[in-house]
Amino acid sequence: MFVSDILSRKGALVHTVTPGTSVGQIAQQLSVRRIGSVLVLDDEQVVGIVSERDLVRALASHGAAALELEARNVMTRDVVTCDPDESIDRVTELMTRGRFRHLPVVRRGELLGLVSIGDVVKARIEEATHETEALKAYIVAG
Ligand code: AMP
Repeated sequence: MFVSDILSRKGALVHTVTPGTSVGQIAQQLSVRRIGSVLVLDDEQVVGIVSERDLVRALASHGAAALELEARNVMTRDVVTCDPDESIDRVTELMTRGRFRHLPVVRRGELLGLVSIGDVVKARIEEATHETEALKAYIVAG
């Protein structure tokens, strides 16, 4: 299974903010949309990512004043991305090694979607279930 298979089911929607969006507004978005991260875009270019972890870190360092900080102050700038043709195994490895749970999907500079660890785990379970069913059918047929 490939990243493109996940995107064909969940679609291309990626929630984004600008570098000037406040931490308070980002927290609202994450809560209302029930998501774990937002991508930071400047002029349609991916310039960072802010996840729940970054908000927790900002709160721990700045207390309530963190709500007034902006995305540019708390985002991770070196965003790791993947190609839609990459395998689920490969993105699992990228997420495990990088210790993050969100991976934007980009091809030739164009943002095509975002896969989360939840999407990846779901796809892996589906794949394992199909394999088990196919093996059972093979055994019964034999
Ligand atoms: P997460 O596990 O996705 O909540 O993120 C943990 C940390 O990794 C946070 O500091 C995020 O900003 C950062 N992060 C999340 N996704 C990525 C990514 N694709 N590339 C680089 N850093 C990321």
